[in-house]
Amino acid sequence: MDDRGMLIVLSGPSGVGKGTVLKAFLKAHPQFRSSISATTRAPREGERNGVNYYFYSQEEFYQLVSEGGMLEYAIYNGNCYGTPKRFVEEALQRGEDVILEIEVKGAAQVRAACPDACFIFIIPPDFHQLAERLRGRGTEDAEAIVKRLAAAKDELLRASQYDYIIVNDRVEAAADRLYTVIEAARYASKNQKHLIDEVLKDA
Ligand code: ADP
Ligand code: 5GP
Repeated sequence: MDDRGMLIVLSGPSGVGKGTVLKAFLKAHPQFRSSISATTRAPREGERNGVNYYFYSQEEFYQLVSEGGMLEYAIYNGNCYGTPKRFVEEALQRGEDVILEIEVKGAAQVRAACPDACFIFIIPPDFHQLAERLRGRGTEDAEAIVKRLAAAKDELLRASQYDYIIVNDRVEAAADRLYTVIEAARYASKNQKHLIDEVLKDA
């Protein structure tokens, strides 16, 4: 019996609402674990070390990379972002399902390392609303918003490489869809090989 937890990777352009949808999802389904990433970007107002991110210097970040302590990492708009390996490994080992909210280059590394993971991409209803949400959040200056929207086009072009695509039109609806696709992924044949082996062992 395979009782390891499932690894779930959530990507989508900056401002699409990943954090907002994930928060609603975790509130409704607190049995899921979300990994806290490490980053070299400066904390936004209200963000706390060890809660939103582990805020590292470049030296601290690359020290962890060189020790083999990152499951994946990538540079996004000039800052490093990475998933510390230990928390994810230990939670999966305990049978807990773990969600990573990461950008597309890091997600590709996870696909290479963990092909059984479930890959989900969140898209906006349209590009205009993405720009409005990013501006409305008020956390980036105009120059950073232009860069994030340029990155968003490249990221959206990779959405079809994911297993599932979810539209974030309304937060609650998107959080419900997230649960639906995760539950469907449990029954994907790539995650059920052990069941076939079990049935066949008495054949
Ligand atoms: P991300 O984590 O993808 O960068 P956020 O979760 O920070 O995005 O959301 C960006 C902004 O969009 C926030 O101000 C959030 O309140 C808003 N937002 C998120 N989802 C929706 C939605 N379905 N409709 C309207 N606004 C939304
Ligand atoms: P933000 O600066 O808005 O918090 O995040 C910028 C981008 O980095 C988002 O697309 C977010 O999903 C991504 N990101 C956050 N944590 C990680 C991580 O650990 N690894 C990777 N590859 N991307 C991450």
